[in-house]
Amino acid sequence: VTGAPREVLDQVGDDALVQFSAADQAWVDDPVRGRVVLVGDAWHATTPSMAQGGSLAAEDALVLADELSRAPGREGIDAALTRYVLRRMPRVRHVQDATGMRNQIAALPLSDRLIAVPSWEPLSIGSFAPLVPAP
Ligand SMILES: Cc1cc2nc3c(=O)[nH]c(=O)nc-3n(C[C@H](O)[C@H](O)[C@H](O)COP(=O)(O)OP(=O)(O)OC[C@H]3O[C@@H](n4cnc5c(N)ncnc54)[C@H](O)[C@@H]3O)c2cc1C
Repeated sequence: VTGAPREVLDQVGDDALVQFSAADQAWVDDPVRGRVVLVGDAWHATTPSMAQGGSLAAEDALVLADELSRAPGREGIDAALTRYVLRRMPRVRHVQDATGMRNQIAALPLSDRLIAVPSWEPLSIGSFAPLVPAP
C-alpha cells in the first residue's frame, strides 16, 4: 500500500480501533425518534452494487421536505414524519433486498454463479424496473 492509503494506515496507532466485519448493509427499523429523522445511509446503507445509495438519500430528503411543507402547524409534524417513512419504505426496502440478493450471487464461485444466473436480463429487470416510475 502506498500514497494516501499508506498515510491513512500509518495514522492507525491501535489495531483494536479498526473494525473488520462481514456487515455490508445497515438498516434501522424506525428511522424517526421524536424530532430526529434519519435519511440516506444513516437509515438504509447498502453496498454500491446497484449504485442507488446517493439517489435514495436525495429522494429521502425531497420526500421529507415535501411532507413537512404540507404539515399543518407543529401538530402535523408527527403525521408528516410517519408519511415520510411510509412513502419511502417500499423503495428503500426493495433496494436493500435486491442488493442483498445480488451480493449473495456475486459471492458465489463463478461456476455456481453461471448456474444461478444464466442470463443477467431478468436479474437486471427485477432489480431496476421497480425503481422506474410508470410512464
Ligand atoms: C464505493 C462506493 C461507490 C458508490 N457508488 C454509488 C453510485 O454510483 N451511485 C449512487 O447513487 N450511490 C453510490 N454509492 C452510495 C452513496 O455514496 C451513498 O449511499 C451516499 O453517499 C449516502 O449519502 P448520505 O448523505 O446518506 O451519507 P454520506 O454521503 O455518508 O454523508 C454523511 C456525511 O456526514 C458526515 N458525518 C458523519 N458523522 C458526522 C458527525 N458526527 N458530525 C458531522 N458530520 C458527520 C460524514 O463525514 C459525511 O460527509 C457508493 C458508495 C460507495 C462506498
